[in-house]
Amino acid sequence: VHDAGQGKVVVLGAGFAGLNAVRKLGAAGVDTLWVDARNYHCFLPLLYQVATAGLEPQEIAYPARSILRRVRAVEFRLARVVSGDPAARVLRTADGDAIHYEQLIVATGGAAEDFGIPGARELTFRLYDLEDARALRNHVLRVLEHAVVATDPVERAALVTFVIVGGGATGVEMAGALAEFRNHVVPRDYRALDASAMRIVVIEAGPELLPPFPPELRARARRDLEEFGVEVRTGTRVERVTATEALLAGGARISTATIIWAAGIRASAVAANLGLPTGRSGRLLVEPTLRVPGHPHVFVAGDVALVEGSERLPQVAQVAIQQGELAADNVLRARRGTPLVPFVYRDKGSMATIGRSRAVAVIGRVKLDGVLAWWAWLVVHLVMLVGFRNRLVVLVNWAWNYLTFDRGLRAIVGAEPDRLPADAAGDVCSAAEPVSLNLGPHR
Ligand SMILES: Cc1cc2nc3c(=O)[nH]c(=O)nc-3n(C[C@H](O)[C@H](O)[C@H](O)COP(=O)(O)OP(=O)(O)OC[C@H]3O[C@@H](n4cnc5c(N)ncnc54)[C@H](O)[C@@H]3O)c2cc1C
Repeated sequence: VHDAGQGKVVVLGAGFAGLNAVRKLGAAGVDTLWVDARNYHCFLPLLYQVATAGLEPQEIAYPARSILRRVRAVEFRLARVVSGDPAARVLRTADGDAIHYEQLIVATGGAAEDFGIPGARELTFRLYDLEDARALRNHVLRVLEHAVVATDPVERAALVTFVIVGGGATGVEMAGALAEFRNHVVPRDYRALDASAMRIVVIEAGPELLPPFPPELRARARRDLEEFGVEVRTGTRVERVTATEALLAGGARISTATIIWAAGIRASAVAANLGLPTGRSGRLLVEPTLRVPGHPHVFVAGDVALVEGSERLPQVAQVAIQQGELAADNVLRARRGTPLVPFVYRDKGSMATIGRSRAVAVIGRVKLDGVLAWWAWLVVHLVMLVGFRNRLVVLVNWAWNYLTFDRGLRAIVGAEPDRLPADAAGDVCSAAEPVSLNLGPHR
């Protein structure tokens, strides 16, 4: 049993919100225990580059213990929290341990929202952690290997069709990166494949891509993607997913071995078990000061928080960073007995990259697209990465990719079960029983 002891603050989650809360508490010398189910902070905005072999997993992750090297007041504990009792001020871990606290900051982030669409949960790939990215990368590389040897043209077509559900930043960036892979890597590495037959389809239920961006940048993003050879279908809903198809509203079907779900976000699963009030998408309801009503010793920050008065704020890194800092500041204020301060978001802008030399960005009143936006995107993402070594390695990789039109190491590493058509008994599209074309992460 780990007892954080009287007076300790526990910060649950090592994402953007947790990291920034811990930095503040550490700087103030407050005894803090930092808990996460992973032993690293992961830079989620670059996950899609890991998934498309642009970067290696370790380049966007940084060990929590290394972050704490010079932060004497904070200890790290690797643990998956499964529930909590705010009245007893305790968290329970998957190992059956109890973690006691005086004050708690919950920053457990989000998870994919499948809106109850049949098959979406079990049969699609999502992009929420390094394991997801690695599984998707292995899968993409495997389906291409299978496509090389597929003799049935219908089966081969399904193997080289990649469907991305969701036209937000993740969907757009993923589609752009896959298009680059198709345009620059496939013709050189998979000479037996016709790269132009590789389909990348983005499906968005709303009328446009990148809804938070101004109309001209949304249009520009769509044009750029289409120029890269991506099919964009807006105003289109996916109704069902099977192991071999995406079924669209209106009856259309797309045969595919790969569906990437980038359509929605809900609170991380543990949020429902913490004994705290929840709201839309399972997020934890908090006052503007990020404090939980009725539980003055619990604060919530980042994607998992639904802040009264700021319900429409996007679930993005800047919001999480600023909320993490404010949650820590308000913990310090509560300890001193001074009034808490409400959350006010300082919007530093948003950006999304589409591919080589193409991006869109809004910074204050300035709207950028094309090469300028792309450079801004590169600089901001390099600066935000944690760790000098990671920044350097990512910079070198990007420069290498840019100059050589190549991607990073494309080794299939890992132990996901290979359930591809080569092992299956039937034809992908004509089989009466669906065959296991998809090797989703099955969690
Ligand atoms: C693919 C992708 C691309 C994105 N791109 C961008 C972008 O370009 N720009 C942008 O601003 N934002 C982007 N975002 C959003 C941004 O990453 C999030 O808003 C941000 O990470 C939220 O920070 P957080 O600290 O709330 O949660 P997270 O960063 O998700 O961290 C949550 C942490 O909690 C831990 N945790 C969860 N449950 C438990 C548990 N039960 N026990 C212990 N630990 C637990 C997790 O391991 C994780 O470390 C992207 C997100 C994704 C998924």
